[in-house]
Amino acid sequence: MKTIGLIGGMSWESTVVYYQLLNRMARVRLGGLHSAKLLLWSFDFAEIEAFQAAGNWEAATEAMATAAQNIEKGGADCMIICTNTMHKMAKEVQAAVSIPLIHIADATATAINHQNCKRPLLLATRYTMEQDFYKGHLRDKHGITALVPDDAGRTIVHDIIDQELCQGIVSASSKVAYLEIVNEAKSQSIDSIIFGCTEVGLLVSQKDFDLPCFDTTELHAKAALDFALS
Ligand code: GLU
Repeated sequence: MKTIGLIGGMSWESTVVYYQLLNRMARVRLGGLHSAKLLLWSFDFAEIEAFQAAGNWEAATEAMATAAQNIEKGGADCMIICTNTMHKMAKEVQAAVSIPLIHIADATATAINHQNCKRPLLLATRYTMEQDFYKGHLRDKHGITALVPDDAGRTIVHDIIDQELCQGIVSASSKVAYLEIVNEAKSQSIDSIIFGCTEVGLLVSQKDFDLPCFDTTELHAKAALDFALS
């Protein structure tokens, strides 16, 4: 089994989910006492979030590249960035190391295309919904047109991630807000939903929606384990 390096802590609330999923999937696939071989770099998210909020992507990229190099030095065979937002600098992170980076949007797009969906609604941080690094990757590499909520909806989706989910707060009223935002977005002819932030699955799940849902945390963890066992 290969060793998976995780760049996590963004936030640790979802890194915990990655850790559980990877180990549980390894047990299901290999049986007995088997678990995943993992190496975790976990940031103090307050430091990273401050870079994001200030638009200091240069400092964020430097921190990410250093984390990737530390993981490579530690002996990992591949690497995953346990957040959608920080795939903004995926190319630079990949360029800093020689082990492969398993991209969260590739794992997600494979599942979307497998189900023949074309117009997913992207629920994510403001950075992921509004900048082109993620939607552009889905469009240019995978032919998928990701739609986003309107401005008011994006603010609500982002704030719930930032001020609640990343701080371990899961509230019924925020869940209702997400359901309403998805309902409104149906006017854009969406055919599916991307949980495009690794904490979104803490708030909502497939059973809350009548459209196919793609949980990036689950799909990414599965892609990493597939690599580790290949
Ligand atoms: N875990 C969030 C994501 O998947 C990131 C939170 C953040 O970086 O602001 O995008």
